[in-house]
Amino acid sequence: MPELPEVETVRRRLEPILVGRKFRRVEIDDPRLTRPEDPAEVAAELTGERVVALDRRGKYLVVRFESGRVLLIHLRMTGNLLYAPRGRPVDVPHRRAVVKLDDGSDVVYRDIRRFGTWLLVEPDELDPYLAARLGGEPLGRAFTTKALTAKLANRKAPIKAALLDQRTLAGLGNIYVDEALWRARIHPLRPARELEPDEIRTLRQGIRKALDAGIRRQGATLRDYRQPDGRSGSMQKEFKVYGRGGEPCDRCGTPIEKTRVAGRGTWYCPTCQHI
Ligand SMILES: [Zn+2]
Repeated sequence: MPELPEVETVRRRLEPILVGRKFRRVEIDDPRLTRPEDPAEVAAELTGERVVALDRRGKYLVVRFESGRVLLIHLRMTGNLLYAPRGRPVDVPHRRAVVKLDDGSDVVYRDIRRFGTWLLVEPDELDPYLAARLGGEPLGRAFTTKALTAKLANRKAPIKAALLDQRTLAGLGNIYVDEALWRARIHPLRPARELEPDEIRTLRQGIRKALDAGIRRQGATLRDYRQPDGRSGSMQKEFKVYGRGGEPCDRCGTPIEKTRVAGRGTWYCPTCQHI
């Protein structure tokens, strides 16, 4: 499932393609993408809009239009946005929507599992919508040790569960939480509120480093994630713990172990991350 580094990679690739372009025609083939709104109505609303910015907030792509309206795209499990330059075929399997741009190129939305969402919001709806769902940006300047400390205080939940909660921090998922906790040498089952101040400082750095590594490698392709040009990311080759059960820890050589936390497969080093 795409997390912050994957969504940020898509954003960086699509930004020069979309900004300044007008949506000449929009076809949405899957009612699940826009429900409860009617897909034909959403497509009609989007037609004629001109893109002024492509931002990211957590795992959402934020397509800002000249009109002030915003299209919030969430890729969920298996969503992809693929770019088809003028004249190239766009007939990919599992195509759910296509945006025809005014320069003749297309942006195709593909989604195998169909959990992704497109939500068109009015200018005044955006901030309240995101504020109700998302905490701060872990790569933003406001992500300080103090801010993270405040978010974790009084939370009995395991640190992994607290970090998966998008209201703690926006954009982390199963992969990068495991990677960040390994970097910070913190066991995923430690209660969030029991972390020491120096551990929270190290955790903040670990989160940043794990996300930066993911962005540098254009994200992790486990199955379905692709960049808009169809290429895979390569972060999966650099994982420290995620999916590496039984393999030696890069730091100490101990075999990585797998457990379950918050219902999710969780990998950690039992030596570096003792409870
Ligand atoms: Zn280790």
